[in-house]
Amino acid sequence: MIGQMMDFQLTINSVMRHGRSLYGNQEIVSVTSDNPLHRYTFEEAFGRVCQVAGVLADMGLNAGDRVGTLAWNDYRHFEIYYAVSCSELVTHTINPRLFPEQLDFVVNHAEDRVIFVDPTLLPALEAIKDKLTKVERIIVMTSEEHMPDSSLALECYETLLAGRPTEFTFPEFDEKTASSLCYTSGTTGDPKGVLYSHRSTVLHAMGGAVPSVFGLTTDDIILPIVPMFHVNAWAIPYAAVMSGTKLVFPGPKMGDGAAIADLINAEKVTVSAGVPTVWLAMLNHLRETKQTVETLTRIIVGGAACPQAIMEEMEQAHGVYVHHAWGMTEMSPLGTFNTIKPELSDLPADEKMAYRLKQGLPPYGVELDVFDEEGNAQPHDGTSFGSLRVRGPWIASGYFKLDKEIIDENGYMDTGDVAVIDEHGYMQITDRAKDVIKTGGEWISSIDLENAAIGHPGVAEACVIGIHHPKWDERPLMLVIAAGEQPSKEELNAYMSDKVAKWWLPDDIIFVQELPHTATGKLDKKVLRTQYKGYKLPTA
Ligand code: AMP
Repeated sequence: MIGQMMDFQLTINSVMRHGRSLYGNQEIVSVTSDNPLHRYTFEEAFGRVCQVAGVLADMGLNAGDRVGTLAWNDYRHFEIYYAVSCSELVTHTINPRLFPEQLDFVVNHAEDRVIFVDPTLLPALEAIKDKLTKVERIIVMTSEEHMPDSSLALECYETLLAGRPTEFTFPEFDEKTASSLCYTSGTTGDPKGVLYSHRSTVLHAMGGAVPSVFGLTTDDIILPIVPMFHVNAWAIPYAAVMSGTKLVFPGPKMGDGAAIADLINAEKVTVSAGVPTVWLAMLNHLRETKQTVETLTRIIVGGAACPQAIMEEMEQAHGVYVHHAWGMTEMSPLGTFNTIKPELSDLPADEKMAYRLKQGLPPYGVELDVFDEEGNAQPHDGTSFGSLRVRGPWIASGYFKLDKEIIDENGYMDTGDVAVIDEHGYMQITDRAKDVIKTGGEWISSIDLENAAIGHPGVAEACVIGIHHPKWDERPLMLVIAAGEQPSKEELNAYMSDKVAKWWLPDDIIFVQELPHTATGKLDKKVLRTQYKGYKLPTA
């Protein structure tokens, strides 16, 4: 028997209607490249969304066409997010940190017909202009007086919007309609496009907004430092509108610790989200200037493992609670979020910290498990490793225009991460599948080894890769960027020896000036594995 409830479509349009009609007075504040602090209300924002929709309607685009954005986190990017998706078009957020070859690959693969670009990111587009096959119009996100000179034919965002009506009749469509597209650079091959739907986006934002996850309220003020060009800024542009939460956008200042701290204090931000490097930059600034962030109560740290040092300093020096989170582009991205369950709340601080450093619990909407190579689910004992597989309504079932099966017979997608799950359900990433070092049939976690080295004051960054070894198959090689005075190899090994098993210690340590990173800031081990292929370890 089918239930007798309305077949109400979960579209981003419904999020917009809700936010505009209920929280019209709530603010959106942003730093942009042409304004140090722009401020307006949800009502004004959605009025301008209608104006952008009018511009798009005049362009003669067809339902499902892709519209690219090459932009920072700011109010114009927010307007485009809503205007494009709600017009039954697809917002393709382009990562400006991609290398030029990847940039033209993604723009051409997506077949973007229009690109909205921040003036500061125009050079990236100019560099690939001869390779763009489908782009018909380039709109610069600024006003007429700030229009840059360029060899490209450009149109001005503000001029296109001027004088247009602030109401628009958006089309009605199925909730499974594609809403946005984000490419993941991955570790091998060309970037792959993840095509989100209205339904997945709405459910993901609802799943993230609930009290046991972001817990957004109308009293919160949220600063998404996670970029809008990478996995929808972790749903914050939607979850904040659903929850009536004031939004503060950092614009191009995302990596600037001083600017972030000033923005938090000036706008009384209560909650924020970003990758560890952002928080390290802010903590350095606060330490040097002996300042604090008064109003900030909690932050969400994800995208890479959250170091214990960030958690401790945030809490002890600034009273900010740190939630560790994990996810991936294919998961919209929310996969787990760390909160302490009631049965663990009375543990001594160090034992609780061990739980808090784990990637966390899946929210409702995500099911996950770990499997061995034969596909057997591993026990949830906190020690049994396995490949981490996930399923749920905001998880990709394939890649854009790619004929590749990514779902197994049980409906799971393999994340490429290796993890353990403990008896309380906390998931902990122990490695990337492709990064795992298997030595004599046993696993070494390169991440744990890197973390052990990073605790040493003479180490700024460490990266471990597996090198072929005649006896053990693979042994770890550690590459280190020194901080200040370079420690000796012996000193570093001695330092790590009580933090990891003896047999984990790297067979060699090489000090380097720099390490390659992917466009999303992760260590690019693919490059390093190629570079050090054939390297002869002293133990070989
Ligand atoms: P991306 O799709 O670029 O966002 O990358 C997703 C990958 O980043 C995941 O599969 C993990 O390998 C890694 N990752 C994300 N969050 C965390 C975290 N909290 N701890 C460790 N690794 C993480």
